[in-house]
Amino acid sequence: MSSLEFDEMAVSERGPDLDIVIAGGGLAGLSLALALQHRNVEAHVFEYHPYFKADTATAIGIGPNGVTALEGIKSGLSSIISQAGSYTNNIKLTYFRDGKEDPPRITNVPPKKYITVRWKSVQEILASLVDNKRIVFSHKLIGYRPSKGGVEAYFRCGNALDRIKVVWTKLLIGADGIWSAVRKQMVGDSPRYLNLVHWNALLYNPDLNRVYKGIKEGEIIARTMENMQAHSIIAHAGDYTLWVLRTKDESEDLANSLVGGRGGIGIPGCKARALKQLDGLEGWDSVREVIDATSEDIISERKIMDRLPLDKWTDADGHVLLIGDAAHAQYVGPGQGARTAFEDAHQLSLLLQHVSHSSFTEESIRDAVKRFEEVRIPRMKKMQQFAAYSTRLPKFQPEWFQNLTMEERLRVHEEYTKWVYSYPNKQECDPDSIFFK
Ligand SMILES: Cc1cc2nc3c(=O)[nH]c(=O)nc-3n(C[C@H](O)[C@H](O)[C@H](O)COP(=O)(O)OP(=O)(O)OC[C@H]3O[C@@H](n4cnc5c(N)ncnc54)[C@H](O)[C@@H]3O)c2cc1C
Repeated sequence: MSSLEFDEMAVSERGPDLDIVIAGGGLAGLSLALALQHRNVEAHVFEYHPYFKADTATAIGIGPNGVTALEGIKSGLSSIISQAGSYTNNIKLTYFRDGKEDPPRITNVPPKKYITVRWKSVQEILASLVDNKRIVFSHKLIGYRPSKGGVEAYFRCGNALDRIKVVWTKLLIGADGIWSAVRKQMVGDSPRYLNLVHWNALLYNPDLNRVYKGIKEGEIIARTMENMQAHSIIAHAGDYTLWVLRTKDESEDLANSLVGGRGGIGIPGCKARALKQLDGLEGWDSVREVIDATSEDIISERKIMDRLPLDKWTDADGHVLLIGDAAHAQYVGPGQGARTAFEDAHQLSLLLQHVSHSSFTEESIRDAVKRFEEVRIPRMKKMQQFAAYSTRLPKFQPEWFQNLTMEERLRVHEEYTKWVYSYPNKQECDPDSIFFK
């Protein structure tokens, strides 16, 4: 554990002692708070911003493992979330190889097992279901320190984040996203740039008729060029149509030109930059059409990053634990970030419910956290690695994967999907598979 990076003498306030403190009110933190509330376990969320994250201009696909996890968090939750978006029935994927378009592969999705929904709606629904007395805004976690049977968590707080508050807790959960301050102190590493830049936007399109008429209800259409020069998604997400465009950036020129180094929403010139990626490509007119129909101020442009897998998500003798993107941020391609955050919330709430029966003794917390790591880390390592291979960039693939034929790659993908979707069974691995043993 590295040391705190501020003057402890500057502490101006002491908050109440709490059993569980969740740093971060994103999808991981809120879904865990809800799962615990549902099991009568008290937890408090401390969110950095004065309000929940502004619109991310994206929709997320919550596939079968995510739906199962949501139901485990709170029965009926997946159905509430589906009402804000739509159930996906089929995913149509077209490959472009050697300048030619392969016949599309259509995957039918089992009914009510895949929801496509605005990210913002999921956040709002989770927040509305958590007791608002258990959510504190304008509290930015800046560090922690072991202290008699728990840890002291230090926050910058107040409207100007100019006060420092310390809160003692038995368990500090770092759900503070890919740029996690908890992970920074625990491990000290940084997110990795995956040499991909990504544009996306959500268009209000309630009758599927105002923009891009090619999409049908419950449909996701993906296009991929073998060399990752371009990848796109157009998806029906309730009253909205989502489009995504991704391109490789091996020279890092695109990334270096992004405002603030990471990107954002409505950056001047972002629409032209997105359209430029499609220059000279045949078979991409529908993607051009939907980007053309989008006003620049709602387009998100960003670098795609991930985190390297860790062997350990705990610190301070089991009193600090990482979950969600802070623990296992992964390439967005397979769309598993939120789904696995829901899995974390589901699994951890089951273990902590058990701990609450033994009055949160130090030993019972340590056992629960250890069990959580045993169940979750092997799974997430495999998923993070597979996600990185899916970038299609050799830099992020081991040699054995680069040498696979197209058919073999399809087999890996099928095994991955079968294993991941079987959640909560065979969480750590699938003994029947070749690649996910
Ligand atoms: C374009 C895009 C498309 C995606 N599509 C999908 C998809 O289809 N399916 C899917 O499953 N996933 C998808 N994901 C991934 C998914 O959105 C993330 O994995 C998920 O949001 C992670 O949740 P989190 O709570 O761990 O982190 P975040 O959502 O980043 O939340 C972290 C929270 O912590 C707060 N915070 C940060 N620092 C501090 C601090 N120091 N103190 C207190 N609070 C702090 C932040 O303000 C934020 O509210 C996508 C992501 C992107 C970017």
